[in-house]
Amino acid sequence: MRKFNLAITIKSAANKGLEIYEINIEVDTINSIPQVVIIGLGDTAIAEAKERLRLAIKNSSYSFPAAKVVINLAPADLKKEGSSFDLAMAVGILAKEGAIKEFNGENIAFLGELSLDGSLRAIDGILPIISGLEKLGIKKVVLPSSNLKEASFIDNIEALGADNLSEVVCYLNGETTLKTLKQNVQDFLENEDNDFEIDFLQVKGQLQAKKALEISASGAHNVLMSGSPGAGKTMLAKAFMSILPPLNKQEAIELTKIYSISGLLDRNMPLITKRPFRSPHHSASAVGIIGGGSTPKPGEITLSHRGVLFLDEMAEFPRSTLEVLRQPLEEGTVTISRAQTSVKYPANFILIGAINPCPCGFLGDSIKPCTCSQYQINRYRSKISGPLLDRIDIQIKVQRLKDEELLNNSACETSAQIRKRVIKARQIQLERYKNEGIITNSELTPKLIKKYCKINEDTKKFLKNAINQFNLSARSYDRLLKISRTIADLEQKDNIELSHIAQALQLRSFN
Ligand SMILES: [Zn+2]
Repeated sequence: MRKFNLAITIKSAANKGLEIYEINIEVDTINSIPQVVIIGLGDTAIAEAKERLRLAIKNSSYSFPAAKVVINLAPADLKKEGSSFDLAMAVGILAKEGAIKEFNGENIAFLGELSLDGSLRAIDGILPIISGLEKLGIKKVVLPSSNLKEASFIDNIEALGADNLSEVVCYLNGETTLKTLKQNVQDFLENEDNDFEIDFLQVKGQLQAKKALEISASGAHNVLMSGSPGAGKTMLAKAFMSILPPLNKQEAIELTKIYSISGLLDRNMPLITKRPFRSPHHSASAVGIIGGGSTPKPGEITLSHRGVLFLDEMAEFPRSTLEVLRQPLEEGTVTISRAQTSVKYPANFILIGAINPCPCGFLGDSIKPCTCSQYQINRYRSKISGPLLDRIDIQIKVQRLKDEELLNNSACETSAQIRKRVIKARQIQLERYKNEGIITNSELTPKLIKKYCKINEDTKKFLKNAINQFNLSARSYDRLLKISRTIADLEQKDNIELSHIAQALQLRSFN
């Protein structure tokens, strides 16, 4: 048996949030009492790997070094977690021991957890890790077969799936091949069924609310709907998903990475092909919504990235939770800071909030009278602060349908018809903002508003009058221009006209 004198180095990788780090695993032996020592800031799961390694190697019929085995996880200053380094450590030991004859670890990385019997178990976070390894110039990665589908979506790296440790050893000794798979994300997106829970065709009446949602979808504007219980707010929010543009490849990969590190991917179909719709209950913890934990995990606002965060009964959420939404709503990202670490996650979602008009829910209702005092109503409304409301471009009332509207069967538009206009409006924005680093009107900064939302003198006068008349804040001026820009884009008009401003004013019905 050939003996190595030098330490063996095996490549692997770890994630901190969505950032990927290359980890080099060095294995060496010392003529001393047989034991395994793992150094380099590992957590308990890594410390427990000693026993897994010993048994997995023994149960795969290889001999374990009769010496002190030192495993160093480098770089040492990066905290490492979980069991994804098991395979790399086992390969290092077996290369050192000579079971793997000629090991060249230059362009190949190893990922996966070992069972005591030597079989390989899937790990979370494969897609971001593989995509990170691709950027680090790694050409091949050996991983558990059950992770192969997920790895198959990354273009320039060869993923090799193995069921157990023996297969990996045989492969490295040139005695067998491993499973490979390549899948094209675009194919999955093109074959997406466009099946949604609710089509706009099923939503009767509510023409104003539907128009507001079409404008929201076109410019990615946040929406707050106020209306009595049973007025149809939830149904409208769900139907909203059916008019959003389909995901593109980059967005699908981005979302799949988030769901991968959250352990929320379906192993049989590990690709997110639809925009997410998340609707956390108001009793959900702030960590659940914003993200957090000792290893900061994405919260609902990140899980709804590129999709919709629906907050039903928004006034019932703790004010402290709602206030934390302000930064992500402004920046499209969230930073979660812990004593040891800080992680940044994307959180670019459309917020759809639904509130009752008052605590009893029936203020202004056509059927039931309201039983609240003015004090109760004011207190209820103040739960959603001014600065938060400032980030919600569209604020509309949703009225309960009258009997004649419920019976009216006149044809409504299908979601597919509305979606076509939304897609067109988004294309116009993409083209207009291609050098600005934004993609939708909702992201326009005051500086960009000056550049792209020019209006003529008459229209300006009309807007200023309206702002005085309705006692709107200075911030409203910019917001009305942004919505007007979207309305003009929906009509494929280059300039914002007076009629667009008039329509935008109707989408601020709370004032
Ligand atoms: Zn009431």
